[in-house]
Amino acid sequence: MNCEICGTEIKGIPHRIKIDRSELSVCNNCARYGEAITTVETKKARARVPMLRNVYNIDEVISNYPEVIRKARQTRNLTVEDLAVNIKEKASLIKRIERGKIMPEEGVRKKLEQFLDIKLTTHIEKIELTHITPKTLTLGDVATIKRKR
Ligand SMILES: [Zn+2]
Repeated sequence: MNCEICGTEIKGIPHRIKIDRSELSVCNNCARYGEAITTVETKKARARVPMLRNVYNIDEVISNYPEVIRKARQTRNLTVEDLAVNIKEKASLIKRIERGKIMPEEGVRKKLEQFLDIKLTTHIEKIELTHITPKTLTLGDVATIKRKR
């Protein structure tokens, strides 16, 4: 059988893992994306349900964006107010972003990246696995896996 996350053929016994509320059979490599399921639970999961696999390549804002922005600003000897004037945004907004209270929306993020010469996003592969409930043909639980490329 093939790994339900990356699609490569599994040699030997697949790992059973749980991500969000979905149970998956995966390869060695992908086992780290979820919690291992005990053998007792594995038996229950024998009845396989069809699954939809969607892969998206997306840019996600890095989690340490507040520090990256603050350090870049301080390296250039700029106050929050200086930075705000230069990118035509409010100082209060910059403060909240630097404290991690809010994530910069795309327009603000691009101005920060350009002015401070930094990168605030990382390219990731987001895999969404959706179980389909056979009886009702409705979409069941979605497991989301994010991998750095
Ligand atoms: Zn895999």
